[in-house]
Amino acid sequence: MSDGSSFYITTPIFYVNDVPHIGHAYTEVAADVLARWHRQAGDDTWFLTGTDEHGQKILRTATANGVTPKEWADRLVESAWQPLLKTIDISNDDFIRTTDERHEVNVQLFLQRLFDAGYIYTGEYEGYYCVGCEEYKADSDLVDGTGEYEGQKVCAIHSKPVELLKERNYFFKMSEFSQRLLDLYEENPNFIQPESVRNEIVSFVRRGLTDLSISRQTFDWGVKVPWDESHVVYVWFDALLNYITAAGYGYDDEAFASRWPATHIVGKDIARFHAVIWPAMLMAAGLEVPKQVFGHGWLLVGGEKMSKSKLTGIAPNQITDTFGSDAFRYYFMRAINFGQDGSFSWEDLSARYQAELANGFGNLASRVIAMVTRYFDGVIPDAGVLDAPDQAIRDTEVRVTAAADAAISRLAIHEAIAQVWQLVDELNGYITLQEPWALSKDPANRERLGTVLNTAVRGIGTLAVLLSPVLPVATSKLWTALNGAGAVSDQPIRSAFDWAGGTTVSALEPLFPRIETSETDGSAA
Ligand SMILES: [Zn+2]
Repeated sequence: MSDGSSFYITTPIFYVNDVPHIGHAYTEVAADVLARWHRQAGDDTWFLTGTDEHGQKILRTATANGVTPKEWADRLVESAWQPLLKTIDISNDDFIRTTDERHEVNVQLFLQRLFDAGYIYTGEYEGYYCVGCEEYKADSDLVDGTGEYEGQKVCAIHSKPVELLKERNYFFKMSEFSQRLLDLYEENPNFIQPESVRNEIVSFVRRGLTDLSISRQTFDWGVKVPWDESHVVYVWFDALLNYITAAGYGYDDEAFASRWPATHIVGKDIARFHAVIWPAMLMAAGLEVPKQVFGHGWLLVGGEKMSKSKLTGIAPNQITDTFGSDAFRYYFMRAINFGQDGSFSWEDLSARYQAELANGFGNLASRVIAMVTRYFDGVIPDAGVLDAPDQAIRDTEVRVTAAADAAISRLAIHEAIAQVWQLVDELNGYITLQEPWALSKDPANRERLGTVLNTAVRGIGTLAVLLSPVLPVATSKLWTALNGAGAVSDQPIRSAFDWAGGTTVSALEPLFPRIETSETDGSAA
């Protein structure tokens, strides 16, 4: 992944029945950090996100609110989902809505091709359906209800009763793809990651796949089946196709060839759709399967998965209004091992903001800029002969750049940040030991003082380049204070330590201002 090659990354498209919570924002930020890193590395990067707007659940929500489903979707996209991207500084290249014409027309094209190739037939289906999941459930996916649903079988994810549905539907011959999928998982162990998600999916497919009901006749909010307009396409079948319809499938062959296949970042609860149904659909259509499906863990609040329906939903701007978007991005990428479940707490967020961002990185940048201003009138001094501690800092810059890049290529975002933070910590220790304020008192130490501050300036510039994908706002301010050339987000990240800047520094406001305790004690929740 190092040669200007193509990097196409996606988030799931989000269901517009409700407003975003921090779980959605978490997925967006993870994909965004990866996209920004690859863009900054010079890879031909394309980052897609969007909204899923069809299906019975949307229809019911819209009807309950007295509007058409399209009006409902428009309202949510404009008032909630597009603003979310601004709130947390998402740098997506495209935003697809499943009600876009480019999507609907090419879903029909895809379906017609599968039909013509003999992969679709008519059949009867009876089963338990969860409207929350928009999915028929196997008995093993159901659990005993509690509270008001005592005595009923409920969806294990939504804790709500399922409905017994019987339909005459069109079916996709997914069962024919069990072996090809198992071969894919075996030949390409990275196809599904992390390992825990991969193991679960491999054993699911080993039990054998059944054919998939891909149309609905009981409601009409969806893409019409092209050869039988009394049916609409099953919402998941429709939604998954966004990854290719946005990339040009059916209308821009050149764009499609250069972008596809993609890396899909999804929550682990929907990894099965992306790593089983989706590649089977693509195989049937004779298209390449995705590059990778990565199922990240859940955000837990008070030990429960974050979701509005469980009343633990926290709106992203509750956090960004107090801490800023950079802190939001940093916290979730640093505090949670990407791929595993992680707990959110206001106390942990507040503590990391103070210790790592304000005191660790922000204060380091402020002190270095201030000392260059005070001792050298803002002119960055040249380095003289490097002593061992100076050389050690330069070696760390090179080492963490390579290590962080390697971590990003494994999607280990938390590891990449931890690597870069070694430089933050070493620079803070370096300044404490070298005591530039003491050196400044004796003119005989002038050259040594210059070497120390030159080393420190080089170090914080390298940090600006390396942290730009995670902290785009703070690193832009720091880059401006260093009079760096161009935008920090354009600096080649794989040679961050070779950054070029001006000869002087300018004033730097605090990157992570002090936050009053009363605002961080959780009362905002
Ligand atoms: Zn469900």
